[in-house]
Amino acid sequence: MHPSLTDTPTPRRAATVHFPGEPGYDAARTPWNLAVDQRPAAVAVPRSVAEVIDVVTAAVARGLRIAPQSTGHGAAALGEQPLDDVMLLRLDELTGVEVDAEAHVARVLGGTLWQDVVAAAAAHGLTAAHGSAGDVAVAGYVLGGGLSFYGREHGLASSHLRAVELVTADGTLVRATADEHADLFWAVKGGGGNFGVVVAMEIALLPIADVVAGMLLWDLSRAEEVTRTWAEWTAELPESVTTSLRYMRFPPLPELPPFLSGRSLVVIDGAVLEDDDRAAELLAPLRALAPEMDTFSRIPAAGLLAVHMDPPAPVPSVSDHAILRELPPAAIGALLAVAGPGVETPLMFAELRHLGGALARPQDAALDRLDGEYALYAIAVAPTPEIAAIGTAATSEVVAALRPWSTTRTYLNFVDRSVDVATGFDAAAWDRLGEIRRSVDPAGVWVAAHPVGAR
Ligand SMILES: Cc1cc2nc3c(=O)[nH]c(=O)nc-3n(C[C@H](O)[C@H](O)[C@H](O)COP(=O)(O)OP(=O)(O)OC[C@H]3O[C@@H](n4cnc5c(N)ncnc54)[C@H](O)[C@@H]3O)c2cc1C
Repeated sequence: MHPSLTDTPTPRRAATVHFPGEPGYDAARTPWNLAVDQRPAAVAVPRSVAEVIDVVTAAVARGLRIAPQSTGHGAAALGEQPLDDVMLLRLDELTGVEVDAEAHVARVLGGTLWQDVVAAAAAHGLTAAHGSAGDVAVAGYVLGGGLSFYGREHGLASSHLRAVELVTADGTLVRATADEHADLFWAVKGGGGNFGVVVAMEIALLPIADVVAGMLLWDLSRAEEVTRTWAEWTAELPESVTTSLRYMRFPPLPELPPFLSGRSLVVIDGAVLEDDDRAAELLAPLRALAPEMDTFSRIPAAGLLAVHMDPPAPVPSVSDHAILRELPPAAIGALLAVAGPGVETPLMFAELRHLGGALARPQDAALDRLDGEYALYAIAVAPTPEIAAIGTAATSEVVAALRPWSTTRTYLNFVDRSVDVATGFDAAAWDRLGEIRRSVDPAGVWVAAHPVGAR
């Protein structure tokens, strides 16, 4: 892989830095999750690796801690921490993708969005283990593991990481791979933004040009039979199928298509990595429930970014999460009781993502696997602090209702509030992460959404 993106000589100039009270500060500190009012001591927006190094060196010299942030999709957990002595280091201006089509590897700069990587890979008949939203950044997603609709067959996105380049707390640019700085490489695969500013990642691409993907949609009044069928179906599936099931509630809005506007729905979506006949055979039990809409068909792989219908622009939201061991009828009853038809709730989504397969097989990484059958994620829109409080209570109620079937672990990419971060890891990985953090960042410079090994 030719490292030209970070090696390109760029004119040495200073990164833009915004301080409270100055024009530009409010725009620069605003994260994707608009419910988060993060107020750091300063916001730096570097455009090159040299500028990242200068910013880190200057911030540390002034006694500031540093919070790297690419988009702010994961800003809620960060925003719960005190930021008065923290420089927010926004990576939005450090973006770019190069695809080595022969090696099936993409090299991406620190703040690059998945949609740009997927588009660049698609030009070569390739794709990547991206998540459901194209405007999530590669860095934060992979640092947390990365759960995609290719996951049950191809594992966590972090298992496709080939190299990472970070600026460490002493201002050094370090390249970590399975062979160089192997401890650091292990730590960034799930251990979050606790070790430095990621300025580049090299990611193995998947040789997938097109995929059977789409969604099936019913009125929410069908939730019970659809959920029971999906639960039985997911228990028998091959690893080639990764789907989610959601209860979705939409306000009547003119900008929404009529099939969503003002509707309460149950939706199953995802991908089937099979030929058309086998895919149709696998989808048959769901299609037998006569969905109101069925978009499953063979599409260009880049189209998978659209099937989950994630918001196309920043949204204020609150959420809660758990990992479920199983989804027996009693658990479905509990979910229906808090989020099903007829329930008055401010929830926008109550979602279950099917895990297992390659996601459950250990890899050599801080987050070695996701142990459990389903990831539960409940979300409410939170345009004001008062509505956020109501939404937080509703999302917590969903998680509480499913507690009897939950594991004690969490998947930190789905955790938007302060939790015991140790629940993201097994005990040995948690201890090792702490040791690595203390060795690369003894002064505790980095402020991550999910802190590990902090002083
Ligand atoms: C609409 C939506 C859809 C989602 N879909 C999925 C999904 O399908 N699968 C999944 O696994 N997750 C999903 N997520 C969760 C998402 O992966 C996490 O929120 C992730 O942290 C976002 O990464 P980011 O860099 O865009 O966000 P940010 O908020 O910018 O980053 C989150 C944290 O990552 C670290 N970080 C980010 N960039 C850097 C960097 N360059 N250097 C060092 N540290 C960095 C920091 O600690 C930062 O606080 C979704 C979230 C949303 C809001």
